[in-house]
Amino acid sequence: MNHIAVIGSGTMGRGIAYTAALAGFSVTLQDIRQEAIEQARSYIDRQLDKSVEKGHIRAEQRDIARNHLSYTTQMQEAVAKTDLVIEAVLEMMELKINIFQQLDEWAPSHAILATNTSTMSPTEIAASTKRPSQCVAMHFFNPAHRMKLIEIIRGLNTSDETVEIVKQVAEKMGKETVEVNELPGFVTSRMNCLIGNEAMNMLMEGVASAEDIDKALKLGLNHPMGPLELADLVGLDSRLRNMEYLYHHLGEKYRPSPLLVKYVKAGRLGKKSGQGFYSYTI
Ligand code: NAD
Repeated sequence: MNHIAVIGSGTMGRGIAYTAALAGFSVTLQDIRQEAIEQARSYIDRQLDKSVEKGHIRAEQRDIARNHLSYTTQMQEAVAKTDLVIEAVLEMMELKINIFQQLDEWAPSHAILATNTSTMSPTEIAASTKRPSQCVAMHFFNPAHRMKLIEIIRGLNTSDETVEIVKQVAEKMGKETVEVNELPGFVTSRMNCLIGNEAMNMLMEGVASAEDIDKALKLGLNHPMGPLELADLVGLDSRLRNMEYLYHHLGEKYRPSPLLVKYVKAGRLGKKSGQGFYSYTI
């Protein structure tokens, strides 16, 4: 396992690419938008420099990681010699299925195809390929280089060998894993979406301010981040897609908060747009 191709260079893709390069893998980061690639490249360069300044890594490690990274808008080129693909495009089933069909055609036959989906069925995604035993979900967390966990979700036909290999990759990246059987939202998104949605409904009902809801969960329930600041970090558009998928598959208790729907309609997408439940300078 030497080369990893990451498809989609947004919030998650760029963090996964950065983490993989620092762990010693050769990494190609691909996105269909040149602008997204340029943003990811400057984000990763900044993160590498910051890590050296803070003494987390040595300058040689930064330089090796930089040399391990390449960037492209061409998916065929990105996956031509890869051992593992990690797909991190938008949370839309149709898009993921299209991408997996292309990956199946272009990636070497031994390559594992992983999806970073937060909620969706790896079985359904894998069914569009001729290698369902080599398909799996690797659910990273945001920011990918700091969060310790990767949830590994088996599809119906995922082989033991595939699970074993992705666990080894996770370990090389310095991560812990949990293995989860496939149900919508797995463990973490299923729980986190519910907490976040309840916080949004409380804000809408006037129970408390955003600051006080977050403070209450941090200081009273020992959550490291408040649910509203976490939703801003995730991206409110991404969170709404997760909620819609869970509502569709798990029912009423996942109905997206009307406040979330309204914010997304207004273009308030959280940290990435400069405004969500809080304001940010971007
Ligand atoms: P994002 O919107 O930040 O980035 C998605 C990227 O995919 C964009 O840069 C877009 O240009 C690119 N893209 C779209 N179509 C493409 C294509 N056909 N080929 C290549 N690139 C394409 O999204 P994100 O928040 O990084 O989420 C990506 C995935 O990770 C989703 O499945 C999401 O559910 C999951 N996830 C997100 C978080 C989070 O906190 N944001 C956490 C865990 C998992």
